[in-house]
This record gives sequence, C-alpha cells and structure tokens, in this order.
Amino acid sequence: MKKISKVLTGGVAALATCALAFSLAACGGSSSSTSSSSSSSSSDNSSSEASLNLVNDGKLTVAAELGFAPFEYIDTNTNQPTGFDVDMATALAQKMGLEVNYLPNQKFDTLVPTIKEGGKADVAIAGITITDEREEEVDFSDPYLDSNQALVVKSSSSDDDTTLNDSSKKVACQAGTTGEEWIKENLPNAQLVALDDVTAAMTGVETGLYDGFVIDLPVADNQLKESFTDLKVAKEIPTGEQYGIVVSKDNPALKEAINKALQEMKDDGTMDQIETKWFGTTL
Ligand code: GLN
Repeated sequence: MKKISKVLTGGVAALATCALAFSLAACGGSSSSTSSSSSSSSSDNSSSEASLNLVNDGKLTVAAELGFAPFEYIDTNTNQPTGFDVDMATALAQKMGLEVNYLPNQKFDTLVPTIKEGGKADVAIAGITITDEREEEVDFSDPYLDSNQALVVKSSSSDDDTTLNDSSKKVACQAGTTGEEWIKENLPNAQLVALDDVTAAMTGVETGLYDGFVIDLPVADNQLKESFTDLKVAKEIPTGEQYGIVVSKDNPALKEAINKALQEMKDDGTMDQIETKWFGTTL
C-alpha cells in the first residue's frame, strides 16, 4: 500500500461516513448553480492569464473520465458533466478568471498521458490520487480530498480480502487505478480483470461474472446507494489516498495559480460549500 499513495492519514473515517449522505437525485442538474464569486481576486488573476499557457485562451480545459459519481458523471437531464469535481473545477476556473471547458469522456488510464503529452487539456480532474509513479510523469496540485478504497462484493457473498486471494476468484478494477495496484499487491493469486467502466464492473459483480471489485470508497458508497443495492462493501481499505489536479510539468505557472485558487476556496468556504452539497457535510 505504501507504493500506492503519498502518505496521509487524516479525514478517512469522516469521508467514509459522509459519502453515505450523498443523494444523486437531490444533487442532479444543479452544478451550474455553484457560486464561488470572488470578485476581488479575478482581476489579479486574469492579468497573469497569458503566462498560464492554456490550450484555449480564457478557458480551463479539463480532461476527465465521466463515469465516477459522485465526482464526475453525465447528468442525464442536461447531458452535461456534473459532480463534486465538476463544481470544484468550475469554481476554480472562476477564481482564475477563466471558463471551465470539459472535453468529452475519456478512459481513466489516458488522463495522465494526455496531460503529459500536452496540447489537448490544461488539467485532468477525475478523483485522481496523487502517487509517486504519476508524479514522475506529471505534476499535481495540492491535495483537495482524502479517499480510500473499498472491496465490493454481492450482498449474499461471504468473500472478503482473504478468500478472494485465490486463483479461482476474479476481482475487477478500473484499469490504471490505485484499486488495480491494491489488487496486484494484496490479492496476487486472484485473476485481475481491468475494465474501463465502473458500471460494467458493478454489473459484473451483480451477475456473478466477477467475485469482487475494488474502487474508491466514496464511489462505491454512492453506487451501492443509488444503483446497485444488491452489492455491499465487504471491506473498507484504508489506503489514505489524496486526490489532486493533474497539471503538466511544463506548466508550473498554471500549477501555482491553481494552488492559489484552491487555497482561496478552502479559506473562503467554497470547498466547504461544495462538500456539503455533494456529501451532506464538510469532510
Ligand atoms: N483514485 C483512483 C486513482 O486515482 C481512481 C480514480 C478514478 O477511477 N477516477 O487511481
């Protein structure tokens, strides 16, 4: 596990509890209403916009995998990206005097390469854990949320992290995630099935195609509550991860501007407001 993430310990239990409070129905379709007006800072920030080296002037262009509720997913009413991260990105862009622009959905394991290669997006935001491996390829903003992993099984299953470590067991994950790393390190005997799509993995566990699925705990909690009521979290895995915003190593000015805006959002209550909207409480 130490390989998975940079250290941290705080906020873990709180997150596990808070994630349960999220309600998709209550939150859907209102992402554009997030307010983060900070009229005083936008003029300071826009003066430095030229040096931010954005792929599109005046815009913060975001790459994301949009199947990761409650962090980023497509609102079926508006057909637009919505979620905690989307509100955060919108508020962040506003603080920087920019408009947020989401690129179409892309696979999770293409996000870091997209930012590393450059030219398409300024940032990747998708509940992306800050890891040493990824930091070799790209930079991360300061952390904005603590998270853990969950082992999801059928409600009727008695499997856990011991019984699943067997060559007869299939354990799914989203390809390229810290969940995949956890399975490799902790269930080395199981058959690892790396998928692109969270829903496909959850459905596969439901139908018995896979025996388990390892995914970020807040997403597991959300999916089990909203859609997959016949699944359960067999084990909460305290990996102590932190999410950060991925920025190119070639754009340190952008990273600095993002960190400044993030700090303002932490200080002026914007982050608290977004956390309360999506998790029912501050984290
Ligand atoms: N937090 C996990 C990771 O960074 C999963 C992210 C995701 O699937 N969107 O690997």
